[in-house]
Amino acid sequence: MNSNFHSVILKDDLCIGCTNCMRKCPTKAIRVRNGKARITEIKCIDCGECIRRCPEHAKDSLSDSINDTTPFKYKIALPAPSFYSQFGRENKPGKILAALKSVGFDDVFEVTRAADVYTEYTKNIIEVSSVKPLLSSSCPVIVRLIRVRFPNLINHILPIESPMEIAANIARNKACKELNLSPSDIGIFFISPCPSKVTSVKNPIGSKNSSVDGVISFKEIHPLIVRNLELNINPLSYYLSGRGIGWAKAGGETFSLGIEDYICVDGIENVINILDDIEDGRLTGIIFAELLSCTNGCVGGVLAMESPFIAKNRIRRLAEKHLSDIEKQSYGLDDKEVFFQEEITPIKNNVFGYDVIEAMKMMSECIRIQKQLPRLDCGACGSPSCRTMAEDIALGQTTMEDCMVLFKQRFEEKPL
Ligand code: SF4
Ligand code: SF4
Repeated sequence: MNSNFHSVILKDDLCIGCTNCMRKCPTKAIRVRNGKARITEIKCIDCGECIRRCPEHAKDSLSDSINDTTPFKYKIALPAPSFYSQFGRENKPGKILAALKSVGFDDVFEVTRAADVYTEYTKNIIEVSSVKPLLSSSCPVIVRLIRVRFPNLINHILPIESPMEIAANIARNKACKELNLSPSDIGIFFISPCPSKVTSVKNPIGSKNSSVDGVISFKEIHPLIVRNLELNINPLSYYLSGRGIGWAKAGGETFSLGIEDYICVDGIENVINILDDIEDGRLTGIIFAELLSCTNGCVGGVLAMESPFIAKNRIRRLAEKHLSDIEKQSYGLDDKEVFFQEEITPIKNNVFGYDVIEAMKMMSECIRIQKQLPRLDCGACGSPSCRTMAEDIALGQTTMEDCMVLFKQRFEEKPL
């Protein structure tokens, strides 16, 4: 485990300092200084919004490749529920799974099955919990967002591992039992639409180590699958849970719970607004919240290849077709293979630190500086707002000279 790991990275040489990423970062983790963007790691939640916004492709995501499966004797792919939506309508799930297996895996295990397991555990928790609303733990971006910005809501997070982790545990147990393999012989690779899954494997939340050995992005594997789909490979027999595959789009998780008093919120800005409401006690009568960083849900993941609108439609059709396919299985999982084993802790990121006296001094300095700034939040200085610019000046990271509006005023008053 690497507690500093982030999958979202900056390719310095490509950055032209345009500030597009900085303006859209939901946690104000980006500054542009000396013409280059910089990410403050402690604040970054790996949402990938900056990858989406950068016109220069200077933001990217680290993920594994098919070559990283080589050291393992037996390789298993875990396709995310949204994976089936990334190829033309003519490509049925059995064909897509066969094409995935042929890339170099010995087996595939559908994460849709683990989504069903997650649903059953959630129903049980909802029945006994006095915490309202419970917040889904399935989107790692949202869990990190809560740790960074809403630590008071940590106790609302469902203490259940994501469907990806549950699927990995089921798949590993199954391979060990059926093939008499040792757990370390088996390499389990999640096929992901999203950079935050890479982070949650390298830097897990709720347990010391992830059960997943690597994450390969849709972007990385897509060309290999397309090539295999053109070959005449026999489709694999498969079981697709209609409810599980629905998790690929916003509303799928709550639909599978069959409850009425829920909300489903997608898009990181909407999620931040609703978490503000929950924190301030403005949301009542809701027992469960499905919160998804990407608009439309995982089909809108930043590493997905298909238009989220087309992908959403494909998922809807698949979910409807397989709706009656329900395979209620517990898979003989231990509690430790389903529930978080470690407490979820806040990520401390107070701008002015935790020495109260010192922080108060810095705060009043910040207010003093902010009064001198134009409060236009133009971003031209390289900080996302005048407030953050004042903080950065108080911290000695930049100076008033970098405010372009004040510079223009000074120039107009006293031309060269
Ligand atoms: S969007 Fe950000 S990373 Fe991309 S070029 Fe502009 S400042 Fe650099
Ligand atoms: S991944 Fe998200 S939180 Fe991190 S720097 Fe990019 S936009 Fe900001």
